[in-house]
This record gives sequence, structure tokens and C-alpha cells, in this order.
Amino acid sequence: MMNFWPLMYEDELFVSVIARYQRICGMVSKRALEMDLFQIYKRMGRKSVLFPQNLNTFISNLPPTSRLSAEEIILNHTMYPFFTAFMSSEKSDAVLNAMANGNGKSIENLVGMAGSKVKTNSYLRYCPLCFKLDMEKGESYWRRLPQVPGAMYCPEHHFLYKDSNVLITDCRNDYLCADEDTCNEEIIADEYPEYFRTLNLKYMENASYIIFDNQKRRNLSFIIKFYIDKLRERGLASSAGNLYMERLVEEFLRFYPKDYLEIMQSSVDIEQEANWLRVFVRNNNKNRSPLRHLLFFQFLNVNAQELFKIEKVVGKQTIIRERTPIYSIQERRKEWLKLIEDNPNANRSELKQIGKGLHTWIYMNDKDWYDSVTPKNNIRKGRAKSVDWEKRDLECLILAKEAVKELYRKEGKPIRILPNNIRKEIGAKRWFNNKKLVKTWRYIKETTEKIEDYRARKIKWAIEELIEAGDRLTVYKVQLKAGFGGSNMEIKLEIKRILDKYDNTDY
Ligand SMILES: [Zn+2]
Repeated sequence: MMNFWPLMYEDELFVSVIARYQRICGMVSKRALEMDLFQIYKRMGRKSVLFPQNLNTFISNLPPTSRLSAEEIILNHTMYPFFTAFMSSEKSDAVLNAMANGNGKSIENLVGMAGSKVKTNSYLRYCPLCFKLDMEKGESYWRRLPQVPGAMYCPEHHFLYKDSNVLITDCRNDYLCADEDTCNEEIIADEYPEYFRTLNLKYMENASYIIFDNQKRRNLSFIIKFYIDKLRERGLASSAGNLYMERLVEEFLRFYPKDYLEIMQSSVDIEQEANWLRVFVRNNNKNRSPLRHLLFFQFLNVNAQELFKIEKVVGKQTIIRERTPIYSIQERRKEWLKLIEDNPNANRSELKQIGKGLHTWIYMNDKDWYDSVTPKNNIRKGRAKSVDWEKRDLECLILAKEAVKELYRKEGKPIRILPNNIRKEIGAKRWFNNKKLVKTWRYIKETTEKIEDYRARKIKWAIEELIEAGDRLTVYKVQLKAGFGGSNMEIKLEIKRILDKYDNTDY
């Protein structure tokens, strides 16, 4: 039983209070100290600087007058709020429970910190000016905020945080105070570009909110819906919620300079199909570092509190494609050409009857084109001669380009870019194969997709489908999903080659 417990400073790490307690008591033996605090003769389970355990035992050892609770320690004096904010309430509660009552496993594992490629610092960190000001008042202490992964600048003083000489990672360590032996007042010269500070102070604003003000939890599927909504507002996702991944990556890299991403342990390699960003906004159960959520918020120009305050999110949605009046002239032309081809014997007034609204629109807005492609009344035989192929070639070229884009954009299993598929996409019949469409056919030949390229595209599609469904990725599953039958070794190797890239990705 302890006779007293020091007052804890705001944002002070629990381990820091233990260190000060030990100093005040003048206790030399670490074992005696831990016995005093946790009533454990052996080692106190796994000891962790950022995520202490067995806190209920500790509470029961406090003097009866103490009103301190394990939950209060966990919320205000450990890294718990930061590392569980982006978890479901159930999971987050389980972590809290493990910290209060002890658990065979380390909390670092439970919160996904241990396996993450985003590492926390190996040493306890501090702001030299905070330290100096503390010491002038008597003593200093270890704060939580500098231990946040990605924290570079003290939000109060705008100085760079620095490493102390106290190792976090070694659980056999003594409890060391933040004092002249472990810290100093020397301010390190800031040689980073100005934008590092601007970007990082914004990052710290969000991190501070999560550590100090936020009590809510959001699970991954909620967060992903939130992201999709925000991306839709930015024009980076379709109304159905499909991501425009290329543009997303492009804009992300325009927002964050390379060197900053590197220091935030979040470099995006565009060459790598499965870089973390591409998989980040997808539904899968991979653990994501809170650091990356905060990076993503900042890119979206969203404050962290928005995610926790908003009640309703949409995410992906099924959209019945309406024929809105704003669709393009190409689409209307395409439809009109199809109408003509579908009704080879119809004259103008009959076509008008069949096409109604479409006819009116084209007649009003696109009269010259209408005249050039629509068969004239009563002189059907002269029609072939009256076709201006050069003009039609240009029109078809536009249609072909649109069609190729459309084919690449299509959801579901990829369709190979082949002349026939392009023609089908346009909705044109045999006349489309006419050699007089010189430019169009040159374009089509150039864009025809090589079989290897198509194969790779199909494999990537299959992988992303499996990721989205939260499936485990195996060569066999990918092969099945992509629809490659048999035991073609070459295809298996190709799948493996692409899969390897995904395996090495961290989210
Ligand atoms: Zn400071």
C-alpha cells in the first residue's frame, strides 16, 4: 500500500509519474518499487512505457482517500486515445480492459502498433523549451504529445522535438525522470524547409484533438464511408463511390512533398501498383496507422473532429443511371447513329417518330451534323454517296476515344480493348469497319491492348476485388477470380509477381 501518490501533470505519461514517485520516495530498487505499485514479486507482466497494464491493481494500492481510477489514467496519461480512436468501440474497450486488468499480450500488438510499418520513436521525446520552462518551475516530466508518431514540432513553441536518452523499447529499463541527466535545453536548428513546419503543425492540431478532446470511436467501415463522401465532394470518386485512383494519387502527391512523406514514413511509390495509398481507402481488415488517417484528413482538408462529430455517412451507393439532360453531344450523336443503324429502312420522319426527344435535341443543337448523317426522305438510294466520310471519320474518332475511355472505366471484370469491343461500345454496326474511316482506324490499331497488358489488368482487378471483399490473397483465388482456367504456369508466375507487390504493402 502506498501512502501517497504525486499529482499528475496534464498530458504526463504514467511512466513519468512512476519515475517521479520513485525519486520522491528515494527508492533505489526497481523491484521494490514495482512491488509497491503493483504487488507483483516477479516482473509486472509486460511493462510498457506507452501502454501500461495492471492498472486496477495499482489503483487498489493507492491510499483510500484517492479518487483516481484506472480509466482516468488510461485516458489522460497513456497513448491509448491516439491509438484506439480509429477502432471499433468493442475493440477499443477490449484494449482498455487489458490495460486495466492486465493481459498476457502486449497492448502494442492489440492496437496494431507492433506490426505496423509506421514506427514509433525508440527514445522518449521532448520539446527543449517546454523542458526549460518546466525546470524553472522546479521539475519536468514526460509528455504524451511528443511520443505521437509523426510529431515533429511542439505545437506551443514551434520548436523541433528531440530525443532524450531514455529508450522506450527496452522494458527492463529503469524509471527515469525528465531531468538534466536525460534531457537538455539546447534547441536544435531547424534545417527543414518551411513547409515541413506548416504541414506538421496542422498534423499536430489533429493529433492533439484526438489525444485531448476526443472520446468517440469510429470503426473502419464508417471511416471509409466518410472518406468516400469527402472524395466524392472533391470529384475524386464517382457518385456511386468508385474511386478515381490515378487522380487521387496524383493530387495526394501534389499536396504532400516527397521529402515530407518520407519523414512521415509514408512515401508513395507511383511505380508500385500496391502502394499504401491505393489500398488505404479500400474496405479490408488490414490495420492502418493513425498517422496515415491524420495525413489523409489533412489532404482532404478535414479536421479530425469532423469524423467524430458527423453522424451519418454514405460511402458507396448504387445509382440508377438517369438520362440526365446534361450528357454530352458525343453521347447523343452515338445514340442517333445507333438509331439510324437499327432502323435501316426508316426515313427522316419515321426516325423522328422513333427518336422523339433525341431527335429534337439533335435537330435543334446539332443541325449540320444531323443533316450529314441522317438519310434524307425519299432519296434513300443516294444516301451512301451523300455520306461525307472525312467528316464522319472525325466524328467517329471522337466516339472511339470516348469508347476506349469508357471501356477502361467500366466496373466489373476488365474488357479487353479490341476493335470489335470499341465498335460495340459505340453502338455502331458494320459500316464502322469502313476503310474510309482512316483516322479512326489508325487510332483503334494504336490503342488495341496487348494480351500481356490485358492479362495484368485482369489480375490486378481480381486482387483488388479480393481485397475489397476482405479475402485472403492467394495465387489460386486470384486465378479463379480473374477467370484463368487450367494450370498455365506462366499465368501463375505473373499472378505471383503482382501479388508480391501487394504483400509488401503496409496500410
Ligand atoms: Zn514546447
